[in-house]
Amino acid sequence: MTRRLIAGARPLVLGALMLALAGPALAEPKVPPTPRAVVADPARDKDRPADMAAFQVDIAGSKVNAILYTASGAGPHPTMLFLHGFPGNETNIDLLQAVRRAGWNAMRINYRGSWGSQGKFSFANARADGEAAVAWLLDPANVAKYHIDPSRIVVAGHSMGGFMAADAVASEPRVAGAVLIDSWDIGSRSERITSAETRKTAIEAMRPDTAPLATTPEALVAEIERDADKLDLQKLTARIADRPLLLIGAEFAGAPTTRKLADAAKAANAKALTETYMATDHSFSDARIALEGEVIRWLARFEPKSAATAPFPPLKGAYDEGNIFARIIRGEAPSYKVYEDADVLAFMDRAPLEPGHVLVISKTSKARNLLEMDPKDIAKVMAVVQKVGQAEVDALGLEGFLILQNNGVGQSVPHLHIHVIPRVAGKPVYLVENKPADPKDLEAMAVRIKAAMKP
Ligand code: AMP
Repeated sequence: MTRRLIAGARPLVLGALMLALAGPALAEPKVPPTPRAVVADPARDKDRPADMAAFQVDIAGSKVNAILYTASGAGPHPTMLFLHGFPGNETNIDLLQAVRRAGWNAMRINYRGSWGSQGKFSFANARADGEAAVAWLLDPANVAKYHIDPSRIVVAGHSMGGFMAADAVASEPRVAGAVLIDSWDIGSRSERITSAETRKTAIEAMRPDTAPLATTPEALVAEIERDADKLDLQKLTARIADRPLLLIGAEFAGAPTTRKLADAAKAANAKALTETYMATDHSFSDARIALEGEVIRWLARFEPKSAATAPFPPLKGAYDEGNIFARIIRGEAPSYKVYEDADVLAFMDRAPLEPGHVLVISKTSKARNLLEMDPKDIAKVMAVVQKVGQAEVDALGLEGFLILQNNGVGQSVPHLHIHVIPRVAGKPVYLVENKPADPKDLEAMAVRIKAAMKP
């Protein structure tokens, strides 16, 4: 996967200066981490669980089928509208589900005259349908009912849906950004229709895809010829370059088109353009996880608290007395302790990879990682790790546990620490970013593990 960020990306010089002032230098990850939402389910929110609403949007007298996957939690939630391709065989539901797991509502529609929606399918109608779906999301009654954050609505689309997404974003300045996935520049097809023969070729090429659509390939090709200018995606992309824009191209399909769209956005002084190209086909058949990761990482720009691309401490550097574990040792920051003696402290990880996840640290060593640590100090830490592992097994009825220790890459706190993570048979542990747990749960778990600690 190749990835380029241009205008609007992290201002590198300023960023480096701020990091230097803030403390020891941190390194940027070279390969972006997989967001947790791609691979793991969130905890169920008892009061407001994730849900699905199926309904119809009335567009010019036709009922259009729509689905809203609602995110769990109180909200208000950012919301992604997804517009499918031509005719929409590739539904991209996995992408919508992953985006919802990341805390977003995700909505999809079937354009008029497609997949059971009433009315007639045409490119003009599909444009109006995308615009109507955005209006539906901004309707105050729907904002209230579905806990939508109207300031964080993003429109995404695949193939022809990329065109429709750009159109919907251009039509509504309140939309926060656009994701165009291997988009079809519909108008450019007109360049190939130069004679009766090439017109016939275009019609026959389109015919198989029109089976689920209430239209004919003849009508669609006539529309392309008549409205080529209105269906010019490069022009549309230039119009939406004032907002964050993610362009994803498939190298074995529409990447050349995506590169032209990127050029159009750059020529229009794109404020925040991200371009990504993946070695896959038009359906991203073997890059679904990569696609989900890319979209979710990009959406994180609308989540101020995201640590998706957090920097990490290089292996060599000065000890930072202000790091959170040094503050916990000095009693300046709270922790839920399960064990403490003169040399070693064990406490609950605030964002457990599995309930019962404990961290064990030295109170006396200033080692940031294993390479810096005196073997005598690590021996004291490991003696406590062993006790904590046994206590987790006994308290939680486990058949196993995992110890893990990051050095440099993957590390977020620059004070050596050993993770002691309960393992439940059959349940995977994902090394991905995690959300902090409810302090009440951490406290209750600390009480259980502490009670099971052997002297
Ligand atoms: P690592 O990524 O290996 O550096 O792990 C650092 C761990 O520290 C992560 O799992 C965090 O969830 C955890 N952590 C960060 N701050 C705190 C805190 N204040 N109390 C408890 N755990 C923390």
